[in-house]
Amino acid sequence: TITMAAIDEEGHIHVGTSTNGLRYTLPGRVGDASIPGSAAYADNEVGAAVTTGDGDILMRFLPSLLAVEAMRAGKTPAEAVELVIQRIQKHVKYFEVAVIVANRLGTYAVRCHGTGMARDNGKFAYMVSSPGQPVRTESVECS
Ligand code: ASP
Repeated sequence: TITMAAIDEEGHIHVGTSTNGLRYTLPGRVGDASIPGSAAYADNEVGAAVTTGDGDILMRFLPSLLAVEAMRAGKTPAEAVELVIQRIQKHVKYFEVAVIVANRLGTYAVRCHGTGMARDNGKFAYMVSSPGQPVRTESVECS
């Protein structure tokens, strides 16, 4: 699954996501990508959030909406990604999730929970593109 958030030159915020990257899902399964507020959510006044991972768990918490609304209420992107993980942890013991949150000015934070989201170096990797700069890969530890 690929999820992304982008802010265009006019300050409009966009999100996009592919669907059903999980293995062994049932035929006909509707994943979290198609549920607004779950895998992706954006609001021009606030920012955007996108997620990847255990969609069947994620869709129960609308984590992208939760993160954007947390920022609307004054949380930073870093606080918003923590809030999302804590909210899920309150109800679910084991899950694999990564959350990317950006405010409308482009400040962003990324949080990875669960070692299953990590790749070769034990980290979750994501791409960042900023005006005038080459696209770069960054990563965070999964815990
Ligand atoms: N969230 C996706 C799904 O459950 C999987 C993924 O993000 O890799 O379909």
